Amino acid sequence: MDLRGKKIAVVGIGESGKAASLLLKQKGAEVYATDAGDPQKLKAVARELKDAGVFVETGGHTEDFIKGAQLVVVSPGVKDDSRAITIAEADSIPVVSEIELASSFCKAPITAVTGTNGKTTIVTLIGLMLKQSGINISVCGNIGDAFCGEITDMTKREAVVLEASSFQLKRIRDFRPKVSAITNITQNHFDWHPDIEDYLGSKKNIFKNQGKDDFVVLNYDDPNLKGLKDEIDARVYFFSMDSKVEGCYLDEEKLILNMDGKELTVCRADDIMLKGSHNIANILCACLCAYLSGAKLDAIKEAACAFKGLKHRFQDIAAIDGVRFIDDSKATTVDACRAALSSCEGNVILIAGGRDKGSDFSAIRGLIAEKVKAVVLIGEAKDKIKKALKGAADIYDASCMEEAASTAGTLAGGKGIVLLSPMCASFDMYSSYKERGEAFCTAVDGLKKETGERTPNSPSRNLPSVASAKEGSGPLAEGSRANARGKLQTPNLKQ
Ligand code: ADP
Repeated sequence: MDLRGKKIAVVGIGESGKAASLLLKQKGAEVYATDAGDPQKLKAVARELKDAGVFVETGGHTEDFIKGAQLVVVSPGVKDDSRAITIAEADSIPVVSEIELASSFCKAPITAVTGTNGKTTIVTLIGLMLKQSGINISVCGNIGDAFCGEITDMTKREAVVLEASSFQLKRIRDFRPKVSAITNITQNHFDWHPDIEDYLGSKKNIFKNQGKDDFVVLNYDDPNLKGLKDEIDARVYFFSMDSKVEGCYLDEEKLILNMDGKELTVCRADDIMLKGSHNIANILCACLCAYLSGAKLDAIKEAACAFKGLKHRFQDIAAIDGVRFIDDSKATTVDACRAALSSCEGNVILIAGGRDKGSDFSAIRGLIAEKVKAVVLIGEAKDKIKKALKGAADIYDASCMEEAASTAGTLAGGKGIVLLSPMCASFDMYSSYKERGEAFCTAVDGLKKETGERTPNSPSRNLPSVASAKEGSGPLAEGSRANARGKLQTPNLKQ
């Protein structure tokens, strides 16, 4: 693509918009970057872009920045009804995402992963498996560094492993990975996507340009994905916890790669360090993607067994007075919380809440009734969650994380698990899920110190009153796979 002297507009100057602007500038384009965010907050990045020769406006989008552009590159999170997009569409200017732009300059084969949950874990694992196979790769996208920022160094790279969000996939044109994967599809981002069709439609874009020499990896256990094979031109492989599929599956106790009539044992499930049965599914997916991307079996085996997981994702952070504390701050969906609860045996005090993403919290009532003794709520979505879960467990309010951790610790009463798995975004109280997770870790550290200082006979902390008393149990848990396959439950989380 020859961009020299062409006017290109970039909407949004966060991580990916900034990287796109700099790449476009480097390719000789006249770059107009526009962001509706607070000019004060964007001052530093605006300065950096201006210094690189990019025209920048903040605090709104004006026609001058967009009209006459050959192309508009949008950042994830910019909604379809944004003024910037309306102006572009009125002028019939093509609007593409940052990964579309980056991939048009990328000669290395791309392994791209999308889905509702597990993407970052899977992408990290594929990266480790390929690196340990001696392949020089770039791991980028939603996971951290923007794809556009990697392009300058791309001549040295033999492969790209990309975490692709539904926002990025919605606006692709020619983006064509060599290997693509969809991990699972459940309700998410309904504050952004009008309905599940729109959300799934964006995710399905990942394979729309793939041909018969490419590979698609799908979750056979997900009813939204199992039947997609007929829509796909590329070669389809599955991963499954329950069925012997062509691809990668879990038999009684082993992870098996079943490729083209040949069965290869990756490892035993018992040899895996990562906790939670949903993570076994993630490992199956990663093994398959890595194998199809050229990783060696030994390297796949080593990474699958040694990987201990990522921060704030079902991370066991402390044991205090017989209670385990688990930080799952990244669980911003109902299904991520479902996966976490399914991997706990019971006696859970759940800390949940934050900014609602349009989720149906009543979908988890059954599992809450089965596994959760009490729920401690924080953040904006308190009332909605309280209403949805009323009667499934005792519900308490907390005004901050410190209070939530302390209340939960006391409610646990010397046994079970305190689990932060919020089912919501963090932006009402924190800048990110990371900050929320760190706040939880700090609060738990505080409890540790407090417990250390307490004499055995000192009185326990006072509890706030119960907001809603338990009214008997609701229906039983909705057939969680972890229950069906009890041996996969995290052993040290059982009492
Ligand atoms: P993503 O990048 O898709 O958000 P992560 O690997 O960062 O995925 O995990 C996000 C949250 O989802 C964490 O709470 C994690 O424990 C949970 N999770 C991870 N894998 C799965 C899965 N296969 N099914 C359900 N939840 C999962």
